[in-house]
Amino acid sequence: MKVSLDQTACIGCGLCVQISPEYFSLNEEAGTAQVQRTEVEDDSVREAQASCPVSCIHLE
Ligand code: SF4
Repeated sequence: MKVSLDQTACIGCGLCVQISPEYFSLNEEAGTAQVQRTEVEDDSVREAQASCPVSCIHLE
């Protein structure tokens, strides 16, 4: 499974980074989160996806 993140929708709340720091980091310049690893092997990514307030994390 692969994870992607729509940075145009992200509000930079940092929740995904707190929940799943291996997969997400904050891009200070852009003020949004970014994906660090796209190949998903960890349930924390599903938790981050479910917690995102603007539903901009996608798994496929
Ligand atoms: S939880 Fe969603 S809105 Fe918040 S930083 Fe992560 S991707 Fe952006």
